[in-house]
Amino acid sequence: MPRTERGWIISTLQDHLEADHTHTLYCVCGHRLTLSTPRLIEIFGPDFEISKNRDYFLSRFRCNDCGKRPAQVTLSPGNVPRWDGFE
Ligand SMILES: [Zn+2]
Repeated sequence: MPRTERGWIISTLQDHLEADHTHTLYCVCGHRLTLSTPRLIEIFGPDFEISKNRDYFLSRFRCNDCGKRPAQVTLSPGNVPRWDGFE
């Protein structure tokens, strides 16, 4: 993976898989869903870039509790959950 002053450039789902990242969806009702990267690759393909297709990505999901589309998707690097991934 290329590296810049800001850190690793990770954009595609394949990159996220190799980096052991986890994506989590958040709904306005408070519901959250942790996504499996291998499953995301099955759906969107390994070259899909969430940051460039965020609206489309979010439109593919629906909250189990309230039926709305998720409001946010965040990225958790490795085993250190934190709020990240916004652009
Ligand atoms: Zn909801």
